[in-house]
Amino acid sequence: MRAPVTMLGLGAMGRALAAALVDAGRDVTVWNRTPGKAGALVERGAVEAAGVRDAVSAGGPVVVCLYDHASVRETLDPVAAELRGRAVVNLTTTTPDEARELAKWADGHGIDYLDGAIMATPPMIGAPGAQILYSGSREVFDGHRALFEVWAACVYDGADAGTASLFDLAILAGMYPLFAGFLQGAATVRAAGGTAAEFAERAAPFLAAMTGSFSHIARTVDGGDYGDPVQSLDWTVAALDAIGRATREQGVEPVPTDMVGALVRAQTEAGRGAEDFYRIVEGMAGDRK
Ligand code: NDP
Repeated sequence: MRAPVTMLGLGAMGRALAAALVDAGRDVTVWNRTPGKAGALVERGAVEAAGVRDAVSAGGPVVVCLYDHASVRETLDPVAAELRGRAVVNLTTTTPDEARELAKWADGHGIDYLDGAIMATPPMIGAPGAQILYSGSREVFDGHRALFEVWAACVYDGADAGTASLFDLAILAGMYPLFAGFLQGAATVRAAGGTAAEFAERAAPFLAAMTGSFSHIARTVDGGDYGDPVQSLDWTVAALDAIGRATREQGVEPVPTDMVGALVRAQTEAGRGAEDFYRIVEGMAGDRK
């Protein structure tokens, strides 16, 4: 029999993680606050524990995938003594400071803490394309790497427990505005009689190609010189205005592009219209330049 694994949390993601371990032949004990979510896992060989203490006593690393930082503390605090000398792998989404707080809490109780950030949706777990970032205890990462590889490609981001969360949430900061802008375009095309599917087919290649400019943008931002623009802030005001008018013509509110417009106007109103559009990053960072 392989080394046991305890899974705390059987939400959509916890169930996917546990199922992948069961399918990989691991000896999995599961617990969820609300009973009744382990049925399919138990049928496939997992053991359902009645309480957190029972689950933890099954041994092996304790993998936590709960709603948020507060629910992790609420669940682990009462079993801190039982966790002494054990590995806790927390895959719950937390901010970097919350991850560091959990690492400090764990250290104070003699627990080996590894934080993880899941860059995938539940159906992607165990499939190509999924990635999980880890930071915190190198010993836990190295010691359980084979287990982590059941779920996704893994990246170790160093001993600071907050680093995985930092990159996770920074990457998601890019994803949500992109999706919102895509949905603004889809709503506009639909209002004009088209379909979102047709729009997706047209938009995907262009938007994917635009991510190729990230490295150029990054060089400009890291260099801090916005004096030689590919697209100036003044030009961007006109472009966003045209996008907004085209969107409104179809009766759709251009909320996502208006949000970008506000960042751009803050720069042009400060007299920087001839500089590069990417200068909006300085506005977000407090315009200390
Ligand atoms: P769900 O909302 O499906 O599940 C939440 C889980 O947290 C449930 O097991 C719930 O138990 C439990 N829970 C909530 N509050 C408490 C509490 N106070 N004490 C104990 N247990 C509690 O979320 P997901 O499974 O989708 O997500 C879990 C984590 O994974 C989150 O941090 C999420 O950000 C992260 N994640 C999820 C992704 C996704 O696409 N779903 C993608 C990447 C990361 P109960 O059943 O009793 O309510």
